[in-house]
Amino acid sequence: MTREKKGPFIAGNWKMNLGLGEAAALARAVVEAVPEVGDCAIVLIPPFTAIGAVAGAIDGSAVALGAQDLHWEKKGAYTGEISGPMLVDAGCAYVLVGHSERRQLFGETDETVARKTRAALEAGLSPIVCVGEVLEERDAGRTLARVDDQLAKGLGGLSKEDMERVIVAYEPVWAIGTGRTATPGQAEEVHAHIRDRIRAAYGNEAADCAIILYGGSVKPANSHPLFKEKDIDGFLVGGASLDAGGFVDIAREALRAHREEK
Ligand code: PEP
Repeated sequence: MTREKKGPFIAGNWKMNLGLGEAAALARAVVEAVPEVGDCAIVLIPPFTAIGAVAGAIDGSAVALGAQDLHWEKKGAYTGEISGPMLVDAGCAYVLVGHSERRQLFGETDETVARKTRAALEAGLSPIVCVGEVLEERDAGRTLARVDDQLAKGLGGLSKEDMERVIVAYEPVWAIGTGRTATPGQAEEVHAHIRDRIRAAYGNEAADCAIILYGGSVKPANSHPLFKEKDIDGFLVGGASLDAGGFVDIAREALRAHREEK
């Protein structure tokens, strides 16, 4: 079955922030605003410890739950790790794979990304697979080559059905948490390239319904111009997702762009 692409897809990655009370309060505040941004798909991605609290707070709403990482094995002697089936059990529908902080700080490689992506799919989760170049690669004109390599190694060999459950997040590493955003043109160039790659490997239908997110210092002020770009389907938001008002404003601005002609 081909995935139906709805309005903007807005995911908030809370990283290693918020205790249980704070997480539940933030999730409740987002849920309260959902009627205003009802055409968006909203996903909250708390730290593991707050998944249960957030699951309770969003229960019965249209807000979905994701996790920040998973291990590729289903269970066993892997101290400190969390598996795909455990995340499903906790109420998650999505999981981040290969976030640049995991790649840069915790030794994640394209090979571990591939294993985790497959494990997520097998567990019934939709992986949000993060790709993106570091500044030196951009300056050397190697952005598209780096993204191609990450896509080929991380997603290569997936079936068309699996690919339809994958979400790709383009996150230029130099724009994450730096306050420096890619211009809409810079982001669109890479997004269009990713969609072309999906088209070449899986055909028009898969490419047209693929969800390709942009991440990197997204805020209410740049949401509208970024979302106006043809191949930007939504955002993976880090810092700005810790404030319910700002996060919902990002969704609102994306929705405004969505309702205008792309
Ligand atoms: C992220 O963590 O994926 C991210 C894009 O962070 P920020 O929005 O803070 O740049």
